[in-house]
Amino acid sequence: MLVHQILKAKSDDKVVTIKPGTSVAEAAELLSTRRIGAVIVSNDGKVPAGILSERDIVRELGRRGAGCMSELVDGMMTSNLVGCTREDTADVVLAKMTEGRFRHMPVMEGEEMVGLISIGDVVKARLSELSMEKEALEGMIMGH
Ligand code: AMP
Repeated sequence: MLVHQILKAKSDDKVVTIKPGTSVAEAAELLSTRRIGAVIVSNDGKVPAGILSERDIVRELGRRGAGCMSELVDGMMTSNLVGCTREDTADVVLAKMTEGRFRHMPVMEGEEMVGLISIGDVVKARLSELSMEKEALEGMIMGH
């Protein structure tokens, strides 16, 4: 299973982004209304400057209290982004996510982001692939 197949299976493939200079409170509101766990920070919606996840917000809330909500996303986001390409396999993506301990990954084409996949998207795609493989093997064993 390849990343472009995972992207195709997603009902909404538009990546939610916010601009640098946005407050953490606005980002949290966006995560809440869009029911997502992370947002890509980007000036033009294409070239990512970083990612801000619910974990970043919770970590800083725990460390420093509610005051951090009025700060800018720029200081709280992770700028050292790990991405993948459309041609990467689901297994490679899962390995990178497990190793890096994160659940989101931008899909890149050169400098530009062409999608975003979450660990949930990858696991869902792998499970459906495994179930199809199981059915095919059962069919072969039963002889139909
Ligand atoms: P997550 O598990 O995706 O909610 O994120 C956990 C931590 O990893 C947070 O500090 C995120 O900012 C960071 N993070 C999330 N996705 C990525 C990524 N693709 N590359 C680098 N860091 C990431």
